[in-house]
Amino acid sequence: MMIPFVYTSYKNSRLATAVSFCGAMFYVFDVYLIVSFIWNLDSIRDDISTAELIPLLIILAGIGFGLNQWAGHIAKKKAEKTSAESIRTPSAVTSPLVNRQCPRCGTEVEPGDTFCIQCGYKL
Ligand SMILES: [Zn+2]
Repeated sequence: MMIPFVYTSYKNSRLATAVSFCGAMFYVFDVYLIVSFIWNLDSIRDDISTAELIPLLIILAGIGFGLNQWAGHIAKKKAEKTSAESIRTPSAVTSPLVNRQCPRCGTEVEPGDTFCIQCGYKL
């Protein structure tokens, strides 16, 4: 599934990786807020009340999740585009079909054959 919840590196798209990384930053900030709040680092409880913290965490997680969704979307689009391009390239079209084998008896069959010449199995 293309919906990573945490940072994911996409081999096919640098942009998707960057977006995913940004999304992960929001989770990191979420964790930072929780930890800071629990131990009251930098007197954070003076600035943020519990009532304010919860929606803030949800918003940050939501942005992080949204960015990761977007990253997955970008990577998927890129993958679709790449595969569409590879189909259009002449090398893929003219590449020789490998000799197949009959699934029933194992006799080698020609790429264009509909039936196995040995046992008559419908290919
Ligand atoms: Zn056969």
